[in-house]
Amino acid sequence: MAQSITMSDGTELRPSDLEDALLRALREPMLVCDDHPDAWGDHQVVVYNEAREYVVNTDVEHCTCPAMQYHYDAEEVCKHIVRAQLATGEREMPAWVNLEAVDDMLRRRLEVER
Ligand SMILES: [Zn+2]
Repeated sequence: MAQSITMSDGTELRPSDLEDALLRALREPMLVCDDHPDAWGDHQVVVYNEAREYVVNTDVEHCTCPAMQYHYDAEEVCKHIVRAQLATGEREMPAWVNLEAVDDMLRRRLEVER
């Protein structure tokens, strides 16, 4: 899937140019819910993505999705973790991101007015 993201100066970036998880975390519709009954403690949130829900711990960077269980090594994090960190403010929105290309739910969450 050739998803791309447009930088504020108009340059298009593709996943090969970037961390794939970050790009997907910015673009894909995901809802981050931090008062969900399955989310315990200050660092746990529930991320809804494609009608599935995953429990993410943003502090220890753990996620219940299959990608995190089987395919990633300790160096990598999945898109759900990145998204949860962006939504909770634990990860800063990179300065190069064109906010108009960011998923609405994340933009509203961060209360970014354009
Ligand atoms: Zn995940």
